Amino acid sequence: MTRLVIVGGGHAAAQLAAALAEKQFSGKIVIVSDEPVVPYHRPPLSKTLIKDPDAPLPELRGAAFYEEAGIELRLGTRVQRIDRARKLLRLSSAAGEGELGYDHLVLATGAKARELPQAPPGTPGVHYLRTYVQAQALRDALPAARRVLVLGGGFIGLELAATARQLGKDVTVFEAMPRLLARAVSPQISDFLLETHRKAGIDIRLGTQVDGLHRVDARVEGVVVAGEPVSADLVIAGIGATPDVDLACDAGLRCENGIVVDATLATEDPAISAIGDCTSFPHPAWPQPLRLESVQNANDQAKTLAARLCGNPQPYAAVPWFWSDQGEARLQITGLWRAGYEAVVRPATRGSGFSVLHFEGTHLRVIESLNSPVDQMAARRLMQAGQSPDKATAADPSIPLKA
Ligand SMILES: Cc1cc2nc3c(=O)[nH]c(=O)nc-3n(C[C@H](O)[C@H](O)[C@H](O)COP(=O)(O)OP(=O)(O)OC[C@H]3O[C@@H](n4cnc5c(N)ncnc54)[C@H](O)[C@@H]3O)c2cc1C
Repeated sequence: MTRLVIVGGGHAAAQLAAALAEKQFSGKIVIVSDEPVVPYHRPPLSKTLIKDPDAPLPELRGAAFYEEAGIELRLGTRVQRIDRARKLLRLSSAAGEGELGYDHLVLATGAKARELPQAPPGTPGVHYLRTYVQAQALRDALPAARRVLVLGGGFIGLELAATARQLGKDVTVFEAMPRLLARAVSPQISDFLLETHRKAGIDIRLGTQVDGLHRVDARVEGVVVAGEPVSADLVIAGIGATPDVDLACDAGLRCENGIVVDATLATEDPAISAIGDCTSFPHPAWPQPLRLESVQNANDQAKTLAARLCGNPQPYAAVPWFWSDQGEARLQITGLWRAGYEAVVRPATRGSGFSVLHFEGTHLRVIESLNSPVDQMAARRLMQAGQSPDKATAADPSIPLKA
């Protein structure tokens, strides 16, 4: 029987195993994850989980699902090395070391929180957020903290800032760029979020470089900005993530801002594929290889790969979409924003939300919506069907986009 081994216990791994089970994949599926718990939803970690001391693990599927589907879950087990010539993995866990052979290997190793050079994970007073265990540590530390500093005005930094503020904390965000989310969203969205967060009482300092950490003994008790200490009870570093490519690189696979795969998510080794946050992949709508960090991308790549492994190869071409909940603001984006598109603003039919539709000529390339889910979904469906509304319709909320 063919043995398919999936390295990683995140969205991509769990979705691939589920999609294969659904397609009645004839081989044996093994998931090897270095996390101690079953695969879970990561988005709630920064939004809801840290607010609620009783919130359970937001598992994607219960342990019974894997058992019933005949999927072997090896939790708390790290793949240390891939021996490509022998199709063998070197494993380590609390129980010791071991080996596991594969016929096909899927790397779904995700991404890691970028670390501050002076503060490796575990540094007292500093928190990172990528895993459930890190979320639990932050949830435990928050009640005793009054003053919270967030380094980075990206998605996770802003979500955490909004959540901490909802808990009544005194929150300051330091962002080095002159606007929030500068690489990911249009200036209209950055401005709106800035205003929303400031109105909620978050002190956001744009264009502000943090020079270093302010330590008292071994504990970090703030940061240093323009030579002056800014003290805090807790520092959260939300300074981005890097693809987890160590295993692939050590095995000699090509890695350039991610594990390089082709349109069918195959690496240069025909026995190894890669999916999710860890991949750098070609996309028909984008000139350069893409690497995305989103649940949609992890899930859709998993489905594309499942189809190939069951004998139905297709190129991966899903339209990217993403969401981020930041306090009262629900941001949803379909497509990938870049400077130079023509922006058309569309107020929501109800409430104070709006969308910004970005056109290249007559083609709708991106829609960003703030508290305007109906227009977001209508435009997403149009984009998935390769259609565009005209600009007059886009600007007029009295005409439904789907019309
Ligand atoms: C706090 C937070 C909030 C987020 N919010 C959103 C959101 O609102 N919307 C959205 O679209 N996306 C969001 N994301 C991003 C989304 O969660 C990721 O894009 C998604 O988890 C990617 O799935 P993945 O399976 O590729 O990687 P991951 O979920 O990172 O999983 C990778 C897994 O591989 C394991 N692993 C790595 N190396 C090894 C090894 N050698 N051996 C064994 N196991 C290994 C890791 O421990 C991990 O379990 C958020 C992410 C975080 C952290």
